[in-house]
Amino acid sequence: MIKVLSSGLNVVLELRFKTQVEGFWLQDHWEISVIKTQKFARSYVNTFSGNSQLDDKDVIATPKNFGLTQRGVVHEFGHMIGLKDEYEKQSAWYKDKTSIMNNGEVVKQRHLRHFSNWVSSKLQKHKIS
Ligand SMILES: [Zn+2]
Repeated sequence: MIKVLSSGLNVVLELRFKTQVEGFWLQDHWEISVIKTQKFARSYVNTFSGNSQLDDKDVIATPKNFGLTQRGVVHEFGHMIGLKDEYEKQSAWYKDKTSIMNNGEVVKQRHLRHFSNWVSSKLQKHKIS
């Protein structure tokens, strides 16, 4: 949920995905390549080029540090919407281990900030409270 209006209505986030297997479209926002692998492979997202390399193991909950599990595809999607890693010591959220951008899969309110900021600007523009 992004916001609750004064009327009690909830503003929620709904993401829709259009997929295409093979081919090339100029309007693509992201090109996601998925490889089959027998062992762990490091997946990544390149936010500059809009490319992402995933593997077939990324949909499986994988044991991480601190007794947590995480599906790589969920974490990498966080990068696609502009979120940064939080597991490195210089991150302000380094100690928040359950976060999707750390070792867990919990989406925190801060991860939705740019969506809620956009919603707030639209609500303000249309004088909706
Ligand atoms: Zn990452």
